Amino acid sequence: MPQGPPPVRTAAFLGLGAMGTPMAARLARLLPTLVWNRTAGKAERHAAEYGTQAATLAQVAQADVILSCLPTSAEVGGLMAALLPDLRPGSVWIDCTSGHPVSARAQAALLAPCGVAFLDAPVSGGPLGAQAGTLAVMVGGEEEVLERVRPLLESFGRVVLRVGPSGSGFAVKAVNNTLMGLHLLSLAEGLASLKLQGALLEPALDILNASSGRSFSSEAKFSQQVFNRRFAANFALGLLAKDAGIALENVQDVKGSAPLLAHTAMLLRAAQHSLGSDLDHTAAVRMVEDWNGVELT
Ligand code: NDP
Repeated sequence: MPQGPPPVRTAAFLGLGAMGTPMAARLARLLPTLVWNRTAGKAERHAAEYGTQAATLAQVAQADVILSCLPTSAEVGGLMAALLPDLRPGSVWIDCTSGHPVSARAQAALLAPCGVAFLDAPVSGGPLGAQAGTLAVMVGGEEEVLERVRPLLESFGRVVLRVGPSGSGFAVKAVNNTLMGLHLLSLAEGLASLKLQGALLEPALDILNASSGRSFSSEAKFSQQVFNRRFAANFALGLLAKDAGIALENVQDVKGSAPLLAHTAMLLRAAQHSLGSDLDHTAAVRMVEDWNGVELT
């Protein structure tokens, strides 16, 4: 009788940042969950608050499923190299980082000889979506592997979709975030020009939101973060600039043509350089405000 894959009994989560903290908390409602974080105190606090278990990397390596959510594929690669000798055949590594497709393919190839499957499974929806379990999860990798771990992804995701082979999840995520950046900056440009013409910004935004030019940025970001100058730390500008850079590299890899995506990536990099990496990404509108000599209030 051919043996099926081993059942999933334990999970381990690497990286308890703005996203990883609520994602690991939801995962722990489903099955026993080990947590590891570079700053170890965060793992201890997570265990106390959410019923997870703070673990060493040696313990993490023994889990049936390992999930990671780190800034970039480079940090994931560093941990993967450390864990590689101890990983168990039949286990699955799910990387929820907004990573690089080239790294996903390399990491899948690195793990395969150890009998470990890899899925790239980046997410969209922010820390609030993670808390509510309503993230969108875009998965690259084998369908059969996704079906084995689908309940884990559905513990924090409302929509979990396979979008293609290894690396496809990261590629889709990079396009998504570049579109978000494009919408944010172009809306800031539009509103700045409207303000210079003497239009009233709040009703202008309201009517855009009832019209065909609306977007997630117009509906969720301007009234809550920009008009009131909150720019509350949620999703770092440096991470968004990184994602747009990945989208641009993907375009170049396939010899595509995408001047709007390229321009967006360049502008987000410029905003990151002038404003800093750690501010919330919505603060990028300040660059547009400076160009136009107006404040979007
Ligand atoms: P945060 O900056 O909040 O957290 C980063 C995490 O990575 C922390 O746990 C940090 O540990 C850890 N880390 C950083 N460097 C290393 C390293 N060299 N080795 C090991 N661990 C490291 O990031 P987010 O949670 O916001 O983002 C994580 C990923 O999710 C990113 O790829 C981002 O693009 C993506 N994402 C973010 C969203 C958001 O709204 N924030 C939404 C969707 C996707 P320590 O605590 O020690 O600093």
